[in-house]
Amino acid sequence: MTKAPKTRASGTMTESAFITFVKGHLRRASRFWKPITDTIKNARVRKGVYLCNGCKQEVTASIVIEGKRVKNVFCDHINPVVDPETGFSGWDSFVNNLYCESDNLQLLCKSCHDLKSKAERSIRSNNKKEQNDQTEI
Ligand SMILES: [Zn+2]
Repeated sequence: MTKAPKTRASGTMTESAFITFVKGHLRRASRFWKPITDTIKNARVRKGVYLCNGCKQEVTASIVIEGKRVKNVFCDHINPVVDPETGFSGWDSFVNNLYCESDNLQLLCKSCHDLKSKAERSIRSNNKKEQNDQTEI
């Protein structure tokens, strides 16, 4: 397998690393997107307690796992930002899906969000394997 050429940031970044870098920053900025802040606000039952749209349980904003306090409420895109079947397909769809309207957003607790992410990752990695199998033939 040949190494990907470093075409970005004065030859220090591959195209793939560049996409990962920009995606991460766009995702981080999405917490200021009004439909996302509204989704979290609307799921709030009372101070520090939210209703998870997955398990329908009232959950606290943070939980302690192995002695470490971690975030327990996630604003989830019902239809994933990146379709796990097709993968990243360009900035237009990425930005439009990430900065979507509230009808595609739901609040999930960490456990529900982890399950959903795991399922999407599994579809993605199976599709990658299939693609690799096809190119090797
Ligand atoms: Zn849940």
